[in-house]
Amino acid sequence: MLSADWVLPVEGAPIEDGAVAIEDGRIAAVGTVTELGPGERFPGAVIVPGFVNAHTHLEYAVYAGFGDGQSFAPWLAIHIERKARIDRAEMETIARLGAAECLASGVTTVGDAAFAGASAHACATLGLRAIVYLEVFGADPAEALRQYDEKLEYVRPVLSGLVRAGVSPHAPYSCSTEVYAACLELGVPVMTHFNESQDELDWLERGEGPMRPVADFLIDPDGQTGIHRLAGAGLLGSDIVAAHCVKLAADELELLASHDVAVVHCPRSNALLGCGLAPLAELRAAGLRVGVGTDGVSSVPSHDYFEELRAVIAAARARSERADALSPTEALELATLGGARALGMADEIGSLVVGKRADLTVIGLADSAYLPWEDPAAAVVFGGGSHRTLATLVDGETRYEKGGDEWHELIAAAARARSRLLGREPPLE
Ligand SMILES: [Zn+2]
Repeated sequence: MLSADWVLPVEGAPIEDGAVAIEDGRIAAVGTVTELGPGERFPGAVIVPGFVNAHTHLEYAVYAGFGDGQSFAPWLAIHIERKARIDRAEMETIARLGAAECLASGVTTVGDAAFAGASAHACATLGLRAIVYLEVFGADPAEALRQYDEKLEYVRPVLSGLVRAGVSPHAPYSCSTEVYAACLELGVPVMTHFNESQDELDWLERGEGPMRPVADFLIDPDGQTGIHRLAGAGLLGSDIVAAHCVKLAADELELLASHDVAVVHCPRSNALLGCGLAPLAELRAAGLRVGVGTDGVSSVPSHDYFEELRAVIAAARARSERADALSPTEALELATLGGARALGMADEIGSLVVGKRADLTVIGLADSAYLPWEDPAAAVVFGGGSHRTLATLVDGETRYEKGGDEWHELIAAAARARSRLLGREPPLE
């Protein structure tokens, strides 16, 4: 049993002086302290469902700043060159830091697009719920399935109810329609990147633009965007989770909606890469399942999920020039139930409802500008931060606690891997 000044179940009204009872890893009761008793009490705090970081790349947790400010081609070249310098053990070390940063930010589930699969090992070690989508690339479906099989072999020993495997045909400019078809036939969760940048559309529609110099890595363009290409092949469906969807034409939005494709909104990544702002209001109005993701630290400065939520609200309000475009309560729903729906996990997680997995986070707002309380959702979304996360529980188990002592080792190990990425000798231990 945990209790706090507020419990925000997301499905159901906020509960002042609320408590959550946990039994066998599931939520057994949600109510007031008067009804349930105080259990472990967190004063000045709010209990919310664990956040769902619906699109990230934990394996890039120390890639911060690589290629910043460059256009796609040189940015990609830097990543390819540096990534080749490290091995799987170092990738796991980096992904462990990324998983720990997510837990510290109140995240209890990640939708992780994995180049190697190291993030599956990291999530299993740290107890972070995950769908790890193993990335495949290229034009040849047999080769893509070979990549998938090889990565699946590496992650298989750590797969469980907590850490599951999916597949990620990377993007329409790096995977052929046949590769998408082969991935969808596997019958596992599928994640991809759609319409992230104008560069992507310039290549796919006209074979032009900044992607031209890296044409060796790309699929030959056929004049269509990925969404049109896959729709034409009958491949769009509710089993696809699409990150970004920034440069979306009205007919493409309609195709996504009519085929129930889920979208993950990553506003900091889209802004920092100079890609634009996704049409969140239109996506929501069309009834699409929408979650929020930080994307990788290859394109954003951190896994801080609170920073992402503030960007979600800032982007929505700036784009519409309306202060009521998105409320903290709506942002909190996108962060939890929205992400759970996008990943197809809403029966299990995403809200504090009896019977769901006990994935929750406790955020301490004492000494913040949002106390005494007025709007607890606003306090969490605007006043929260990784430094205010008091505890993160997955399946009712505490997986992060403020003041834990394992951070130094995680950070030092990941910093050594970053030295290797930069082509330098790691510092002596
Ligand atoms: Zn991504």
